[in-house]
Amino acid sequence: MGVVETLTSRNADFAASGFSPDLRLMPKLKTIVIGCVDPRVDPNAVLGIAPGEVGTLRNVGGRVTPALLHEMEMLRKVVQAGGGDIGPGWEFVVLHHTDCGITRLESEPEMLSEFFDTDQQHLAEQAVSDPRASVAHDVAALRNDPRVPGVRVSGLVYDVATGRTETVVEP
Ligand SMILES: [Zn+2]
Repeated sequence: MGVVETLTSRNADFAASGFSPDLRLMPKLKTIVIGCVDPRVDPNAVLGIAPGEVGTLRNVGGRVTPALLHEMEMLRKVVQAGGGDIGPGWEFVVLHHTDCGITRLESEPEMLSEFFDTDQQHLAEQAVSDPRASVAHDVAALRNDPRVPGVRVSGLVYDVATGRTETVVEP
């Protein structure tokens, strides 16, 4: 059986037994998790998140990039269109991790500069080789961004060797 057949077969099981038509568009916990694409670091799995509880944005490294901030702006419009807002009462959780694949791109400064929209002289500030430093950097970037005012932001680092997270930046 191919991958798609496997996944659609699992979906049939989900539709039969795990599906709830009562979930809302707005995340129940008023929370957005920003995480890495890495399959070992699925936020729903490692943080025990149930369907409908949080929104999740994932990219390479789980980084706060200009593209991610643009998506955040779009999400805020979606929430506003439903009569709410992303602001006070909301939580953003930035989830970085050890052994992140983005560290393998250190030899690709041009690619990283474009990703972060920064020049190569300032690339070191993005701390791609140190998840504790990178999560602190990205929490600060979100806290300072006027597009998401009043949101509580925290930074976690997940250890792929132990399965445990460390809260590096408290909310
Ligand atoms: Zn990663």
